[in-house]
Amino acid sequence: MNKLDAALVASALQKSGFILTEHAREADVVLINTCSVRQHAEDRVLSHLGHLKHMKENRPELVVAVMGCMAQRLGTNLLSHEAVDIVAGPAQLPEIPRLIEQVLTQGTKTLAVTDKIRTITNPEQSEALDTFEYAYDSDVNHIPGQAFVRAMRGCNQFCSYCVVPYVRGPEVSRPPHAIIEQIKKLADQGVRQVTLLGQTINSYSYRDGDRQYGLANLLEMTSRIEGVEWIRFITSHPGHFDDAILHAMADLEKVCPYLHIPAQSGSDRILKAMNRGYTARQYLDLLIRARQIVPEIAIAGDFIVGFPGETEADFEATVYLVREARYKNCFVFKYSPRPGTRADSKLADTVQETVKKERNLRLLDVQNEINEIDNQQFVGQVIKVLVEGLSKKPHLNQANEGGMPQLIGRTATDFIVVFNGPESLAGQFANIHIEKAGALTLFGMLVE
Ligand code: SAH
Ligand code: SF4
Repeated sequence: MNKLDAALVASALQKSGFILTEHAREADVVLINTCSVRQHAEDRVLSHLGHLKHMKENRPELVVAVMGCMAQRLGTNLLSHEAVDIVAGPAQLPEIPRLIEQVLTQGTKTLAVTDKIRTITNPEQSEALDTFEYAYDSDVNHIPGQAFVRAMRGCNQFCSYCVVPYVRGPEVSRPPHAIIEQIKKLADQGVRQVTLLGQTINSYSYRDGDRQYGLANLLEMTSRIEGVEWIRFITSHPGHFDDAILHAMADLEKVCPYLHIPAQSGSDRILKAMNRGYTARQYLDLLIRARQIVPEIAIAGDFIVGFPGETEADFEATVYLVREARYKNCFVFKYSPRPGTRADSKLADTVQETVKKERNLRLLDVQNEINEIDNQQFVGQVIKVLVEGLSKKPHLNQANEGGMPQLIGRTATDFIVVFNGPESLAGQFANIHIEKAGALTLFGMLVE
C-alpha cells in the first residue's frame, strides 16, 4: 500500500511539472513516505530526517515533506522537527503538490492530517481520493506491466497490537465501477497484472442500490477486462473468509492461485489476546478448504513472535502451525509495542529482545526446511512468469546464457524465478525451464 501511495504522489507531482531525481542532494523537495507498523520503520525515518537537517544547514531552501502513517500518528510533533516543512497523512496525499507550492512561495510549515481519524471521510474527501487514484499512470516508479489498485482504505479489525486502524482510519470499500474504470485505463497503458489492495481485502463490500458487491464479484468483473492477464489480491484476514473467493480463484483463469493470509500466531491464547477472532484449528481448516477448492494454490503467512506473555509453549504452537500450513513463504516480525494500541496500554512487553530474535530465526528455519523440500517439485517443469526486470543482486546461477543479464520474474503463485534473458522482456510473460530450486528462489532457463 505504501508503494502505491508513493507512486500516486510521484505521478501527481510529475503532472504538476516536478521532475524525479535519484539523490536527495540534487533535489529541491524531498518527500519521505512512512510506515508506523513497527518502531524500527519510524526510527529509520527519524534518522533520515537527521541527515536532512544537516543538509538544510547549507541549503535552507530545501523543502522536506513527511507523508503517510507516521505523519498522521505524530502530527505536530513531527512538524516541530527542524528539518520538516510539510506533514501530510494518508488521506491528504492529493493535497501534497499544492502544499509544496505553498511552502515554496510562502515558506511556512504546514500540517495536513485528519483530526478525528476514526470518522468516515466525508464524500468530497472520498471523491478527491478517488480522482487522485484514477489519475495514476502505470509508468511511474513501478515494475513494468504491473500495477497496484486500491480496493479498500482503512481497517476495522483492531488487532490489539496494530496501529493501522488509528492511522488509516475506518474501513471503506471503493465503488466497484471506480476500480474497474481505473483498471481499464491501466490495461490500455499496457498493464498485464493488477494487485487489488486492502488491509482485509476479503471483506471488500460495496452496496449499490439493491446490489451487493463482494471480492468474488470484483474479481469476476476485473477478469472481464481485456489486456489484464493476472489478478492478485492482498491481504486476506482468516476470519469470516467467504469460500466464493476460493471458487472465483478456481474458476477464473486470470485470478492467480495465491493467497496471502496471515495467521500471526498458532496459540489460541495469544490469538485471543491479539483479538484475531479465530483459533489455530479454524485457520488450518480454512487452508485445507482452500487446497481442496484450488489444488495448485500457494499460501503465504505473517507471524508476530514475542507478543506480550508468549511462552515457549505458545511459540511451539506457532511452530506446529507453520509445519502444518506448508506455506509458500512466511514473513516473521518481532512484536513492537505501538503507542495507542490496546496491547501496548494493557500488556507489558514481557518477552526479551534476545528471545524474540531467537524465535524469529527458529520460525524462519522451520519454513526454510519446508521450502527446501517442497520447491524441488518445480525442477524440470516449464513455468510461466511475468518478468519484472534486472535482478538486483547477482544470484549464483549455473545457467549463463551468452552474456545476457540476469532477470527476475514471478510465477502466478508468486515464486521468484531467476534466469538470463534480454532486459526488453521486463513487463512481458516468459516461459522458464526450472533447473534448480533454492528455499527462496527458483533458477532456470528461458524457453524460446
Ligand atoms: N492488514 C494486513 C497487514 C498489516 S501490517 C493484515 O492484517 O494482514 C503487516 C504485518 O505486520 C502484519 O500482518 C503483522 O504480522 C505485522 N505487524 C503488525 N503490527 C505489528 C506490531 N505491532 N509488531 C510487529 N509486527 C506487527
Ligand atoms: Fe492491523 Fe489487524 Fe487491520 Fe491487519 S487486520 S491492518 S493486522 S488491525
